[in-house]
Amino acid sequence: MDYTDIRIKKVVFMNHCLLNIDARGPGVAFRQGPSAELIQIFLNNNINMVQLPCCECIGWGGAARKEFDKFLPIVTNAAIHGWFPLLIPLLNASLSSYNRLCRKEAIKVADRMEDYLREGFTICGVIGMNDSPTCGVTKKVNMVEYMKQFAIAIHSGKTADPVKMNCDQLMDGKSFFMGNLIEEMKKRKLDIKVIGYEPWAESLTAESQRIAKFLDLQT
Ligand code: SF4
Repeated sequence: MDYTDIRIKKVVFMNHCLLNIDARGPGVAFRQGPSAELIQIFLNNNINMVQLPCCECIGWGGAARKEFDKFLPIVTNAAIHGWFPLLIPLLNASLSSYNRLCRKEAIKVADRMEDYLREGFTICGVIGMNDSPTCGVTKKVNMVEYMKQFAIAIHSGKTADPVKMNCDQLMDGKSFFMGNLIEEMKKRKLDIKVIGYEPWAESLTAESQRIAKFLDLQT
């Protein structure tokens, strides 16, 4: 249907937890509420925000990541009794199944992007989350090692520090959701800027300005 109205037809695809911190896994929230400084930039530029799915909430048992918890007793047992290597194929199979879920979600998002582009909208960018095994743009997390360290810490009665453990296991590579989305965008030749937000940057205001600059937006 042909139409004209007052909208300026610009959207950004944003990582789910930039708008909803309550989706973050237990212990890894980087602020109390929505990412106000970044959101304000999009409001100032009249850009609509499309919230990407939180695949961990979908596949790992909601905000509390209950599915992840189910593995902990067996991972703890394996880690402290020396048979962890035997468990690795099972963990990898579970992660492969999660990767398939993320791929399906990525395909749905790419379909939506194509629809916007077909209808004459501008997609000014995609923002991922660079500390995440699921949403990292240039980073992924060694989840097998992360689970092992987490289980050992809990067993030894230490307070597990999920932020530190997560950051210790960060490495370059393809994350589960964003990695699949980037791949799908390449396959469909969707030329859209993609950038990873750094949630543990010293200043989230400066971090938001860095994102704005990358996307050529006024701050
Ligand atoms: S980084 Fe991705 S998977 Fe993790 S909480 Fe945010 S949206 Fe969910």
